[in-house]
Formats: sequence, C-alpha cells, structure tokens
Amino acid sequence: MPELPEVETIARGLSQRVTGDVIESVWLGQKKEPLKSPAAVIAAALEKTRISAVRRMGKHIVFDLDRLESAAKTPSSGNGKRQKNQLKQRSGATSAAAQTQANHGVVFKSKAQWIVHLGMTGRLQVCGPLAKVEKHTHAVVKLRSGREVRFIDPRRFGRLSVATSAEFDATGVEPLEVDVETFINLFRGRKTPIKSALLNQKLLRGVGNIYADESLFRAGIRPRRRGSSITRKQLAKLHTAVKEVLEEAIALGGSSISDYVDADGEAGFFQLQHRVYGREGEPCRICKTGIQRVVIGGRSSHYCPRCQK
Ligand SMILES: [Zn+2]
Repeated sequence: MPELPEVETIARGLSQRVTGDVIESVWLGQKKEPLKSPAAVIAAALEKTRISAVRRMGKHIVFDLDRLESAAKTPSSGNGKRQKNQLKQRSGATSAAAQTQANHGVVFKSKAQWIVHLGMTGRLQVCGPLAKVEKHTHAVVKLRSGREVRFIDPRRFGRLSVATSAEFDATGVEPLEVDVETFINLFRGRKTPIKSALLNQKLLRGVGNIYADESLFRAGIRPRRRGSSITRKQLAKLHTAVKEVLEEAIALGGSSISDYVDADGEAGFFQLQHRVYGREGEPCRICKTGIQRVVIGGRSSHYCPRCQK
C-alpha cells in the first residue's frame, strides 16, 4: 500500500512528466468503484485543460487544471445556459478572468482539480499510446504530447474524483508542514493510544502504520501511551521524529521515481531500513532487546520495550 513518501515520490515524478501538458480526452472503464465522481463529470472536468501542477495532499495526488476556452465559442454554443450558470457559480473565483474575457474576448479561464487516491494497489503510469494496456486499467487520460496517464488498480480500492466548484481540501494537517505547537496541541489530552492518534487522518493526514511505528521508536514513546500522559517535551520529540522518518523515506524514494511511475509500479522504491516495523522477535538495533508486537485499534504495532517508555 503506498504510504505518504511513496505518494510524494509519485506526485513529484508525475509533475516532472506531465506539468504543462494538455488533456485532450479521457477514457473511463466500466467498473464503478474507482470513480468517486460520475464518469461524465470526471471526463468533462479533465478534457481540454492544461495541467498546471501535480502535488501531494496527504495520501492524495492532486492535478491542478486550468481550462482554456476560446471566448468566441462560449456565448454561442448550444449549452450556453449551462455555461452561464457555471460562470455565475464561480463568479467569486474567476471574476477577474471573466472580466478579461469581456474586455478582450481572449480566453475564459476556470480551474478544476483531478484527485487520485491510490488505495491499496492503484498506480499511475505515464506511457506512450502504443504501450500495452494492462489488465485492470480503469482510466486513460490522453495528453497533447501523445503520452497517456493511465490508472491501473487490480483491487479497486483506489479512487478518482474531481473538484470543480470548490478547491479540494483533505482533512487533517500536513505532517511535513505542521509546526511544533500545533502538533503538540493535536495530541495533548487525547484519551486514545498515541499510535491510533497518529493514524487518525482527521489529525495528521497521510501518516501510515509503518511510519507511525518508526516515529514512535525514534521518539522513545510506547505505542499504547495515551496522548494525555505524554509530556510536551516528548511530543516535541515525536514531531521531529515524524518529519525525519518521512523526509528520509522521500529522499530514498527520490532516486527511483522513474521506475516507480514508468515500469510496473512495484519495482524500485527503496524502503527505509525499518528499526521496529515488521521486526517482531528480532533484536532492537540499539539495545538488542527483542522487538514486540501488539495490536492497537486493529493495527499491528511494533516497539522496543526497553528503548520506548
Ligand atoms: Zn531498544
């Protein structure tokens, strides 16, 4: 399952490849599960837009899209009424652009976002049009450059959606950007185990099981500890640990972007050397005590009983 560092790496790889390209057309498969917005809505939002950026928000990949339409077509086309309504709805955000159109008759510009969540097995492939279409391909986005972005997902837990009227906003705060005071206030006074709180997407967005365990080890905090029992100093240490672990994993992933995005998607992502995750019974890398595994909130949690208090 792609975790935050993988998603960051994939978003960076996509950004390098497709930023500035124009989406000409979109094909969507018959399977309903991957489509969080109706197929027609997704296609309409994506087609004839320029990709201005690709970035990660939590574990979502967000494509920022600019629609460029020639002004001549807008008032006279058959669905003028619908477009006028859209104009009305978006007037707050696009009044300057609409004004430009009125004054100069050049372009009408609106924004949209294409949001991809990879789920368990989803991946995005950038390839040429002749590349074999793999089984479980649910979307093919054709670009003006001739390349295609394809969404492939055998288990179909991944999701495609669009945001057109309001900007997409994932829940929680961004773990790589949150300041120490905000971080401390998120977890102080929580009655739930700190491990569960770290995984709560409404608090921090995108921290998964592996990175939660590794962060708690580096901060010396046992996963069952309640937020309310952890000192400010320890929470500050955890804040640093979460950032460190994620940034190290991103740095490792950065060297394998092309493999991850272009090839089979599984190859090439270098894992951080885990200190506790998945190492039950093996000696702690620091004190040689056996790593223990407990289940907290249905998730496996690994810790060193000596290094973590
Ligand atoms: Zn230890």
